[in-house]
Amino acid sequence: MRDRFGRTIDYMRVSVTDRCNLRCTYCMPSVYQPVQHGNILTYEEILRLCRIAVTAGIVKFKVTGGEPLVRKGCTNFISRLKALSGVEQVTLTTNGLLLAGHLDALCAAGVDGINISLDTMSNPEYSEITGYPGNAVETVKKTLKKCIARGLKIKINAVLLSQTFEGISAVAFLAQHMPMDVRFIELMPFFRKGIVPKGVPIEAAIERLRKIWPDLHPINEKRGNGPAQYYAASGLQGRIGFIAAMSHRFCTACNRIRLTSTGMLRPCLFYGKEKDIKTFLRAGCSNEELYRIMRECIEKKPPARIPSSLKNITEPMGMYRIGG
Ligand code: SAM
Ligand code: SF4
Repeated sequence: MRDRFGRTIDYMRVSVTDRCNLRCTYCMPSVYQPVQHGNILTYEEILRLCRIAVTAGIVKFKVTGGEPLVRKGCTNFISRLKALSGVEQVTLTTNGLLLAGHLDALCAAGVDGINISLDTMSNPEYSEITGYPGNAVETVKKTLKKCIARGLKIKINAVLLSQTFEGISAVAFLAQHMPMDVRFIELMPFFRKGIVPKGVPIEAAIERLRKIWPDLHPINEKRGNGPAQYYAASGLQGRIGFIAAMSHRFCTACNRIRLTSTGMLRPCLFYGKEKDIKTFLRAGCSNEELYRIMRECIEKKPPARIPSSLKNITEPMGMYRIGG
């Protein structure tokens, strides 16, 4: 369906939990009070809302969190979502630490792709960012190989941080060694209190990567549902993508809404206005009434924001509550 600015909205990011096994400084507080289980939508409730979303023209779904794989039954949920009539695509975004144990189930579910977040190939940096003490980089690398061996479509997401900037080419090399895309995302202002990580604009990243791949050039290929601009270069098996979340406008092509794990429908990532659809769902509203609420949420999507006026961003909570 189209919103009032003529944008086609056909994609919903569905967060199944606010919990996570990591504590990325740009996403989550180091200590936080997880939402009580009773306030989190059950899988049945999410599936009902997804069925209604399909009738509103939403046919592509991204399962996210917090970390979606920390919630019990997530792969079974993905399999049921994928089997819903009218659903064209279900993908998952994960930090990858628990992924290896779920690959059989995800393949059986027919998952259409997996985004794996990996900001650095250096373990000390990874620990600094996420608070994770173990050898996470090795774990994720092994899992990536398993995913590729199974023919899964993989994209790496790396947030562009000044603390990891020296090593971004090591992350980009994943697209040289394996058939997968690597996407660099500009840091968005959803920070932990007291810690303000420093981001890096994509232009600086492109300049750095051109030292390794001098012919890195933009291509006109759509390789997913997101706003990434993809680049190719000789030697790369995959593509390098850049998501200019802060330095360029991409809202004019926005195609999505979000459903948080607490049952809030969110028309825009950056503005805190949400519709509490859970209250209506649990009050016994009919599918028609829920459809109306969803439709209204889509229609009320805000116009393109102006990234320079960050003070207008009203998002009060971390990305872990929204799902990215
Ligand atoms: N835990 C999963 C993961 O890390 O992929 C899914 C949820 S996470 C909130 C989804 C995406 O949001 C990740 O790729 C993460 O890097 C990104 N993200 C979180 N906070 C961000 C921020 N402040 N700026 C840019 N991207 C952010
Ligand atoms: Fe967890 Fe993903 Fe947020 Fe990191 S980015 S804290 S892995 S939800």
